[in-house]
Amino acid sequence: MVAEAHACDANAVTIADLRPTDEVLELRARVRAFMEAHVYPNEPALNREDEEADALVAGLRAHAKEEGLWAPHLPPEAGGSNGSFLVYAHLNEEIGRSVWAQLVFGCQAPDAGNGEILWGFGTDEQKQRWLKPLVAGEVRSFFSMTEPEVSGSDPTTLRTRAVRDGDEWVIDGHKWFSSGAEGAAFGIVMAVTDPDADPHRRATQIIVPADTPGVEIVRAIPTMGHRGRGWTTHCEVRYTSVRVPVENTLGEVGEGFRIAQKRLGPGRIHHVMRWLGQMQRAFELMCSYALEREAFGGPLAEKQTVQNWIADSAAEIQACRLLTLDAAHKIDQGDEARVEVSVIKFFAAKALNDVIDRAVQVHGARGLTDETPLAGMLALARGARIYDGPDEVHRMVVARRILKAFADGDGWRFD
Ligand SMILES: Cc1cc2nc3c(=O)[nH]c(=O)nc-3n(C[C@H](O)[C@H](O)[C@H](O)COP(=O)(O)OP(=O)(O)OC[C@H]3O[C@@H](n4cnc5c(N)ncnc54)[C@H](O)[C@@H]3O)c2cc1C
Repeated sequence: MVAEAHACDANAVTIADLRPTDEVLELRARVRAFMEAHVYPNEPALNREDEEADALVAGLRAHAKEEGLWAPHLPPEAGGSNGSFLVYAHLNEEIGRSVWAQLVFGCQAPDAGNGEILWGFGTDEQKQRWLKPLVAGEVRSFFSMTEPEVSGSDPTTLRTRAVRDGDEWVIDGHKWFSSGAEGAAFGIVMAVTDPDADPHRRATQIIVPADTPGVEIVRAIPTMGHRGRGWTTHCEVRYTSVRVPVENTLGEVGEGFRIAQKRLGPGRIHHVMRWLGQMQRAFELMCSYALEREAFGGPLAEKQTVQNWIADSAAEIQACRLLTLDAAHKIDQGDEARVEVSVIKFFAAKALNDVIDRAVQVHGARGLTDETPLAGMLALARGARIYDGPDEVHRMVVARRILKAFADGDGWRFD
């Protein structure tokens, strides 16, 4: 039998720990005001993804900087404006509502995650050369791990090799889904440096300037019918005899997986925080339209099926919020929160898809048009169940860890 003393833990997180302080509420209100004044009205123009949209983004970014709202994922000493995961979660409930806002506030994937690992593991020189312009929004970056030939869920099978030749790494490999690689200044490439080492010690992360001879952006891979442009691309990249100095090693040789874990844990939480915003936006559209649209003698809001969708969505959104805030709080306390991060990754990805899908359904044909943001949100949401680890892998991680705790006689504590 597992001891029942777990039920009362002095360190347990309470709901009060997760609530925003007055200061955070005020900051969040400023982000919301910025979104209402500058982001939502510009969405149609931004969705066109042309040069005019690029200029618009540049102007909005300058404005966000002036307002002190820039790069809220990093502390001021790293060039950001915040640094607490919990606070960032609260802000992302606003920022996440529009796919463009992360770019406007300088906390877009994958640059935010890359910025965090450069801040955490980079040398002073790497921070100066790569992190500084990245956080300032002067350049973009990409993270190049997944390969078409092997399972991205099991990166111990990666084939891209980096071989040391004097003071240089020589990299050969084939990657895909390197998001944002088109137009980026550099990538962080995961390459096998010691194929004979323990599987989790084989790979190293190496910073590769995009203009290094041998780096070829083969194509932007269209996903869900969308090719993307620049930041919104997912690229196939080939590395052929790419030479970079060994000083471009991020962290220690063989530490690629440890750093990836550091990157992907917070990175997953960043995604989920934004999904909270997407879900809430879809939910609001669903409720408003249900009250407004009439069929069979009354508003859709009076149909029990629609009421069930609204009730289920409300429950799922609040569950996702609390799970996310709890995981963010634990990360702030220095905990890796591996189980919490995996729980929220698969649970929120499903809720995201379900809530947006219900909102589309309530809108009927209009839900598929560009008259509402829902169709675009739905197309983007599907990838959430795959990127940064598919649902099934996160469920596996959760179950394995919990079962191990039981096998060790500790049981599992819901704190
Ligand atoms: C929009 C998008 C952006 C991305 N951006 C990046 C990026 O910037 N950089 C990067 O390196 N990668 C990126 N990726 C790649 C992403 O991380 C991988 O797609 C993901 O890790 C899954 O790998 P895979 O596609 O090779 O699927 P596979 O590993 O081949 O898995 C295929 C399917 O098998 C099932 N499966 C796998 N393992 C298990 C298991 N243990 N139990 C049960 N079922 C299982 C799952 O259903 C899974 O979907 C991105 C992907 C998408 C969709």
